[in-house]
Amino acid sequence: MIDYRQFYIDGAWVAPASANDYDVIDPSTEQVAEVISLGSQADTDAAVAAAKGAFWGWADAPHEQHISLLESLLSIYKERSEEMAQAISTEMGAPIDMARTMQVGAGLGHLSNTIDVLKGFEFSRPLGDHAPGTQVLFEPVGVAALITPWNWPMNQVVLKVAPALGVGCTTVLKPSEVAPLSSMLLADMIHQAGFPAGVFNMINGDGAGVGTQLSGHPDVDMVSFTGSTRAGTAISKNAADSIKRVALELGGKGANIIFADADEKAVTSGVTRCFRNSGQSCNAPTRMLVERPIYDQAVETARVAAEKTAVDRSGSEGRHIGPVVSEVQFDKIQALIQKGIDEGATLVTGGTGRPDGLDKGYFVRPTVFADVDASMTIANEEIFGPVLSIMAFDTEEEAVEIANDTAYGLTNYVQTGDQQRAQRIARRLRSGMVELNSQPFGAGSPFGGYRQSGNGREGGAWGVEEFLEVKSVAGYNA
Ligand code: NAD
Repeated sequence: MIDYRQFYIDGAWVAPASANDYDVIDPSTEQVAEVISLGSQADTDAAVAAAKGAFWGWADAPHEQHISLLESLLSIYKERSEEMAQAISTEMGAPIDMARTMQVGAGLGHLSNTIDVLKGFEFSRPLGDHAPGTQVLFEPVGVAALITPWNWPMNQVVLKVAPALGVGCTTVLKPSEVAPLSSMLLADMIHQAGFPAGVFNMINGDGAGVGTQLSGHPDVDMVSFTGSTRAGTAISKNAADSIKRVALELGGKGANIIFADADEKAVTSGVTRCFRNSGQSCNAPTRMLVERPIYDQAVETARVAAEKTAVDRSGSEGRHIGPVVSEVQFDKIQALIQKGIDEGATLVTGGTGRPDGLDKGYFVRPTVFADVDASMTIANEEIFGPVLSIMAFDTEEEAVEIANDTAYGLTNYVQTGDQQRAQRIARRLRSGMVELNSQPFGAGSPFGGYRQSGNGREGGAWGVEEFLEVKSVAGYNA
């Protein structure tokens, strides 16, 4: 039984150095689900010291040991997946069926995929035949601070924890204070799996406190961060004094370019993708760019799809979207919807206020705007709610220009029956990921962004390399 006020440091659950209670709110009910503690400098120092103390023992352990402990964690994660689904659903409002499949499944997939990559990874490689005696070693970067958001909690946490531990780093995880329950459960699973003390530590805290203490800590060698561009900037600045490595996975404002020759389901599935997880995905296709000849029809199709999108409490089974995560996010989304109206976009459906029948909870009306232009706030800011902006284009060049006209560069989408055009556009889009015609990314694809979407790459071999230093050794065979 987890005591949610405690932290996991040096192989044990411990009380915080000083009490600082923080309510975790169930967004479906606005009621307190659990009370956690926000850590202080003393807690951060204790967690970092434990990670530092455990480093050599873990870094030097055989890779087979790293892998077999991750395999134990994988089987525990599978066994306790219902607990995990409940934790995620409670803390951030994912509908329970979606939590069971997509949210829990994302963590499972990354864990199992990282294990596969680690099994084949060469940590020591000769430079090449031209340079006998020069060896390149891939070594764990050291103590890694892992700072994560609330929207896909196990997806993001496991994308960091699995490769970091798998290569021999020791870690301090600081999950989002808004959604910490799933990470506390993961800490419990890591304990159950039998990882050595100090290898994995977890403390709760907010950005101004533990987050800042970690990014500036002299004994932290790397910060791996997923979250807002605002926090990514603050972390980079704070980490600069100690030149620690900073890997950033930040926000997005994805374009979904739909040509007249696209599959007839393209608009409906674009709406579904935009609204998935109540619109709280960094890679959501929030700007739908539609070729002029099918624009009016697309707006109508999007209206119908949005109006068919059911909204309900996270505990209800079935296909619907849940609330957004918090009052702060709810208020922000409401203000942005109002801004869209005020700035002259056409409100096709949805709007401010809650959906009918849901007077309590942070529920947002699935909203579609048409006639959005690039100057409008809703075309530029990440809304992080079920809000779609539709824009028209006339030519391929114009579509690419609109898609790239953003500070972000995470994921863009192209729908067309012309495969050559799809590939041509994929090369011109300034984003770390491009999805053509709804084909899913393969397991282990690199996930990350260009520009203000960050500089990191997670998943597969890229995610493993992120936690490695590269060392050249000359005279290795001499
Ligand atoms: P957030 O940036 O407010 O918080 C993320 C984490 O950073 C939390 O743990 C928070 O406590 C911490 N934090 C906040 N300020 C900090 C600071 N100054 N120093 C250190 N830590 C700090 O983001 P959020 O609201 O939790 O998550 C939503 C954001 O995450 C969105 O912008 C979304 O696009 C982004 N995101 C990006 C990806 C990606 O992989 N690119 C994935 C999911 C979410």
